[in-house]
Amino acid sequence: MPGRRSTFAPFAGRSRRTIVAILVTFALCWGLSVVLSISATQGSQHRAAVVEVAARQRTLAERYVNEILLVRAGEPADPAATATVLVRSADALLNGGTAPEVQGDDDATALPAASGSVIRRQLMQEKRLAVDLTAAGSALLAHTSPAAVPMTANEHINVTDPVERLRVLAGLTSNVSLNAARTIATADDANISNLIITQSLLGIGGLSTSLLLALGLIAATRRQTAHFRSLVDSSTDLVLVFGTDGCRYASQSVTRMLGHPDTALLGAGFADVVHPDDRELVRTAATRAEPREIVFGIRNHLGEWRQLEAHLTDLRSDRHIRGIVLNARDVSERVRLEEQLVRQAYHDDLTQLANRVLFRDRLDHALARSERTDAPLAVLLVDLDGFKQVNDSLGHDAGDQLLRRVAERFAEATRPSDTLARFGGDEFGLLVEDADPAHAEAVAGRLLESLSQPLMVSDREFAIGASIGVVHHAGGPGNSDETIRNADIAMYAAKEAGRNRFAVFGEDMARRAIDLRQLEQELRLGLRRGEFSMHYQPEIDLASDAIVGVEALLRWHSPTRGQISPAEFIPVAEATGAIFELGEFVLREACAQTAQWHAAGMLADGFVTWTNLSGRQLSAGGVGALVTRVLGDTGLPAGLLGLEVTETAIVQDGSAGERARAELHDLHESGVRIAIDDFGTGFSSLGQLRHFPVDVIKVDRCFVQGAEHNAKDAAITANVVSLAHALGLLAIAEGIESETQLESVRSVGCDRAQGYLFARPLPAAEATALLAEPRRGDSQAA
Ligand code: C2E
Ligand code: CA
Ligand code: CA
Repeated sequence: MPGRRSTFAPFAGRSRRTIVAILVTFALCWGLSVVLSISATQGSQHRAAVVEVAARQRTLAERYVNEILLVRAGEPADPAATATVLVRSADALLNGGTAPEVQGDDDATALPAASGSVIRRQLMQEKRLAVDLTAAGSALLAHTSPAAVPMTANEHINVTDPVERLRVLAGLTSNVSLNAARTIATADDANISNLIITQSLLGIGGLSTSLLLALGLIAATRRQTAHFRSLVDSSTDLVLVFGTDGCRYASQSVTRMLGHPDTALLGAGFADVVHPDDRELVRTAATRAEPREIVFGIRNHLGEWRQLEAHLTDLRSDRHIRGIVLNARDVSERVRLEEQLVRQAYHDDLTQLANRVLFRDRLDHALARSERTDAPLAVLLVDLDGFKQVNDSLGHDAGDQLLRRVAERFAEATRPSDTLARFGGDEFGLLVEDADPAHAEAVAGRLLESLSQPLMVSDREFAIGASIGVVHHAGGPGNSDETIRNADIAMYAAKEAGRNRFAVFGEDMARRAIDLRQLEQELRLGLRRGEFSMHYQPEIDLASDAIVGVEALLRWHSPTRGQISPAEFIPVAEATGAIFELGEFVLREACAQTAQWHAAGMLADGFVTWTNLSGRQLSAGGVGALVTRVLGDTGLPAGLLGLEVTETAIVQDGSAGERARAELHDLHESGVRIAIDDFGTGFSSLGQLRHFPVDVIKVDRCFVQGAEHNAKDAAITANVVSLAHALGLLAIAEGIESETQLESVRSVGCDRAQGYLFARPLPAAEATALLAEPRRGDSQAA
């Protein structure tokens, strides 16, 4: 507020001017009255001297007569000196000047000239009488008749005795002097009355001016206060002021927002509308102005809780406020969104269970606690069996409902203190604290048991199982990542062991897991170090014995492990995602090599280099773009490339399957050949086969090799070949190792063959040499 005041004070200048005006008025009035008083006092002092001199004239006149009489009686006296003083004093009284001193009595006194007609007339008469008196006195001493002395004062004295005449003149002089002194004194009184009146007028004038100005100031201040109040009230900001006695002020915006009258908020009443959890916070903040920013809940008249965010300003030392000011805003919406976001960040929308992030957090805390207290805990990782089928055949809505039902069943089977989470898909996690191994296994059993009854979704019953991995943590330090990973390994073990069961994580699994991780790391490293290469196995046309294609097969020569079979590392690459890098490497190598052969004119018409595509690559999407890019980069015509995909990868249901089929379809349109690998091992969708963009069916090695001795395998081989032909496709037999096998596939009409009998997969150089050979009628190149 002090900061704002200095930048925004519309009336501050005006009020300052008013105060200055009041002060100036007072100063003027006071100064004027002082000047008046001084001048009046000075005037009075002068007049006192005048009155004194005037009064002295009377004494002087009488003394003069006595001195004349003394001289006449032969006594010593100096009437002439007294006469001089008398006359000169009369003159000084009238015209101003110095009234001479009277020996032994008064000092010489400076007098101003008399003003005012009455007094001047009286003094003129007095002066004339003094002259007449002294003239009569001189005449008496000179023994001339005083009556002969001309009278200037125009007084007609009917006394003839010269002494009596002198006495009369002295009496007249005394009278006139007395009158003059009285007149002067009266004038002085009048002056003092005037002074009092003037002073009073000045006082009244000053007071009323000041009052007027002060009223103006009050009005201005009121306007200013009203202005600020309306600013405060109309602003959406909520302003609250807290003093030692609780809430002292609540702006209208506060009362408007809460719907409570401000009387309900003032004083100690404010605490009643604050959320109980926040009362202490608000109380401390409102008494200490610490912390500077708080968020607290407050109840409106409808009983709803609103969230206020308040900034505190300590204005306790500001004498205008003397309190702590809270500038608050209603942030309920924001707080709600934040809470929702936090909820979203930590919860699974579908089941309202915790999500993986929250689970991880809880596990971290539980492990930290276990490290301190040695308390055991268990983590269970649950993967549903048979969920994919429901999801794929009935759609996502049914799948979602099913997941909700499962979540409900699991919640019923666990304690509220356990953390049950959905990790995504059909994977759930459960954290059981203070659980010994027996307890953990009992919980796993209860989860399986909870699914033993079929679940109802859209009026249909579904039987769903689960594979559960259990990790037991005996107590002490632990790592959440590792714990979850181990649970995952145990879960896969449960799946491998035949599903719908739980497996407890053990050291053997740990070792396998470590091996797998190790292998993955080496695999990625090996790819960068160029430890991978492609081998090419020729494909023979059974009618012409000509090499009509090659299958590109990946080889890894690890410096530490030696030659590793793709059957061993491909599943690891698929599980870890390294397959995407590997897959691109395979495509680039095979295409570049084929482009070289093509450029060298070594390839017969219809030649195809087949590469294997992992199901994981297909369902992840992007194969179409990758293949197109690689073809472009290597300049290989699309028709020279073939992709081998497994039956399960291509018949996949759901959006991933659809996308995969669409991508293959587009590639097929562009000329790329498609083969179904290991055909016959799935037998899932023979009928759909004609809808797929397929050119070739590869009969799986197990049928080809079994056909020799096993009638059923022979029949399957024959049927697959017939089916291929019925669909207008070519049939290739894999794994031909012997002449008998070759004969048997030839007899059922197989078009092409591949196997050690013709050639093993060969390094690029050897394959190139083989392709460069002139065409041989005898196909036994191996
Ligand atoms: P597949 O696609 O069925 O590949 C044929 C496998 O049979 C190859 O094994 C090949 O060496 C082997 N083979 C060929 N002729 C004979 C024969 O006469 N007798 C016997 N017993 N075997 C024969 P390989 O190279 O060890 O590959 C194993 C599997 O690894 C492949 O099976 C394929 O599924 C996968 N694979 C190999 N290379 C790649 C690749 O580049 N990408 C992907 N995704 N998978 C690959
Ligand atoms: Ca293959
Ligand atoms: Ca195969």
